[in-house]
Order: sequence, then structure tokens, then C-alpha cells
Amino acid sequence: MCLICIDFDRGSLKLREAKRALGEMRGMLDQQHLKEVERKLAEAERAAQSDDDG
Ligand SMILES: [Zn+2]
Repeated sequence: MCLICIDFDRGSLKLREAKRALGEMRGMLDQQHLKEVERKLAEAERAAQSDDDG
């Protein structure tokens, strides 16, 4: 877990903000967790897009 996960799961970080934070923090995260966060955000993005399709 990192700040991005905590804030994103809590809902205090929007998807767009989380992606920007990931870009800023990716050098500080270990590779495995970086992949986890990327997957988490990708899934959230897909979920948001499928919402639009109704
Ligand atoms: Zn994390």
C-alpha cells in the first residue's frame, strides 16, 4: 500500500489525480507495487467508461 492506494480507495483521490500522482511517485514505488497500482487504476478507468455506455 502507498498513499495513492490509500487515498484512491478512500475516494479522496479522483482517477485523474491518482494517475498524475502515480506519474510523480512511480520512481519511489517498487516495481511490483507499481504494477498493482497501474492495474487498479486501469480497472477503475474501464469501470468508469463502461458506466458511460450504460
Ligand atoms: Zn499503493
